[in-house]
Amino acid sequence: MDAIVKPWPKNAGANATGNTTATQLSDHVRAAPRPVHPRPSREEAEAAVRTLIAYAGDDPKREGVLETPKRVVDAYGELYKGYTECPADVLDRTFSEIGTYDDLVLVRDITFNSHCEHHMMPFYGRAHVAYMPVDRVVGLSKLARLVDVYARRLQTQEHLTSQVATAIEEILKPRGVAVLIEAEHMCMSMRGVEKPGAATITTQFRGVFRDDPNEQVRFITMVRGGQR
Ligand SMILES: [Zn+2]
Repeated sequence: MDAIVKPWPKNAGANATGNTTATQLSDHVRAAPRPVHPRPSREEAEAAVRTLIAYAGDDPKREGVLETPKRVVDAYGELYKGYTECPADVLDRTFSEIGTYDDLVLVRDITFNSHCEHHMMPFYGRAHVAYMPVDRVVGLSKLARLVDVYARRLQTQEHLTSQVATAIEEILKPRGVAVLIEAEHMCMSMRGVEKPGAATITTQFRGVFRDDPNEQVRFITMVRGGQR
């Protein structure tokens, strides 16, 4: 695409001089969450894993699990990477040269892995994200990255869905945003009611998708239709 790339002026709303604050962003959109202070050390985190291994009934000094605390803490760096990432930064480069295109842009089947904040057990599935651009569009891969930023934190599926919608709404200012997420929760499959295969579906509709039922139907039809 022959386009003009514009960095998004995300600091405009937080101007210390009190100048123009045209855009107010939600806290979860504007910045990565602040870590608790003092942040536990790596040694403390590994000790906590040893405690959980012992609590489960195993011996943390057994050879097979000796290195497990180190591996678990390493894995946390990836699984919870979203705590170090800022959604506004992910969406900060937009393309303003969109010609006459003003219809729905849908990225379907964005796979994601997350962890429920109630049990710290995985939930995973697919997100479908659509918006109706006005003036500017964002690189399609950025929508997938945005889902990952929020997914790689402790989450509920409901919050994940609304946070993705809010970030797109506040930064791109489109005519509408639609997000549908379908996921399986391991805390329902492996424990509790033990219902593997149960799908949880959540949606958020903003702008024209909220106000016009026909647009909702069109979104759902495009999500459900076509080849899989
Ligand atoms: Zn859970």
